[in-house]
Amino acid sequence: MLKTIICDILTLKFNERSVHFMPTDISQLSLPDGQVITDPQTLNKYGQNKYTQEVMEAYSPLAIVEAHSYKDVQETLKYANENKIPVTPYGNGTSIVNSSAGENGGIVLDLSKLNKIIDINIPNQYAVVQAGVLNGDLDTEARKQGYFFAPDPGSKPISSVGGNIATNAGGMSSLKYGTIKQSVLETV
Ligand SMILES: Cc1cc2nc3c(=O)[nH]c(=O)nc-3n(C[C@H](O)[C@H](O)[C@H](O)COP(=O)(O)OP(=O)(O)OC[C@H]3O[C@@H](n4cnc5c(N)ncnc54)[C@H](O)[C@@H]3O)c2cc1C
Repeated sequence: MLKTIICDILTLKFNERSVHFMPTDISQLSLPDGQVITDPQTLNKYGQNKYTQEVMEAYSPLAIVEAHSYKDVQETLKYANENKIPVTPYGNGTSIVNSSAGENGGIVLDLSKLNKIIDINIPNQYAVVQAGVLNGDLDTEARKQGYFFAPDPGSKPISSVGGNIATNAGGMSSLKYGTIKQSVLETV
């Protein structure tokens, strides 16, 4: 019985996802010059896995949007919502399955510039950070004050806290402290 179930699972096949969007004029997204990137060379960089160097075939997002503020995020989501364009957040692209590369015809919302540690509150033992802060940078700052940030994926120095939360990342210390979901008080 168990064998049959396993075989059934192994023979499951996903249907290829086909997405059709209306052609959209991305220049209508009102963000400063340089933050809406459409040049093919840069787009291709987002379709190449940072770790495996694997390149995604037929990769053609509409644009990369580099957010520098919450307002940029709001503007992008408003525009995407009005035009029915899918948006994929990008932390620092260390996902080994390229999950932040986004969809063809969609927007990749790069949050890596939202990398401020806003507050490290030692008396109450919490930190407030922007989504693009690197896990290792937060840990380094906490250690200066005698504390540490426990979630320790192998990508600690190069992956963002936002990406870590989205993937519930963890490493060896998860055995004692849990994965990152045990370290999150709130996301807004
Ligand atoms: C050398 C190496 C070692 C690794 N070791 C581990 C390990 O030990 N444990 C482990 O769990 N993983 C590990 N990983 C995988 C990877 O580092 C994690 O998945 C990491 O959490 C991804 O973070 P990122 O900032 O690079 O996110 P990205 O790769 O950019 O994005 C990952 C996913 O999160 C989403 N996302 C990113 N930011 C946000 C946001 N702000 N809001 C909502 N969604 C968001 C993206 O859309 C995407 O789906 C490793 C990877 C490498 C290259």
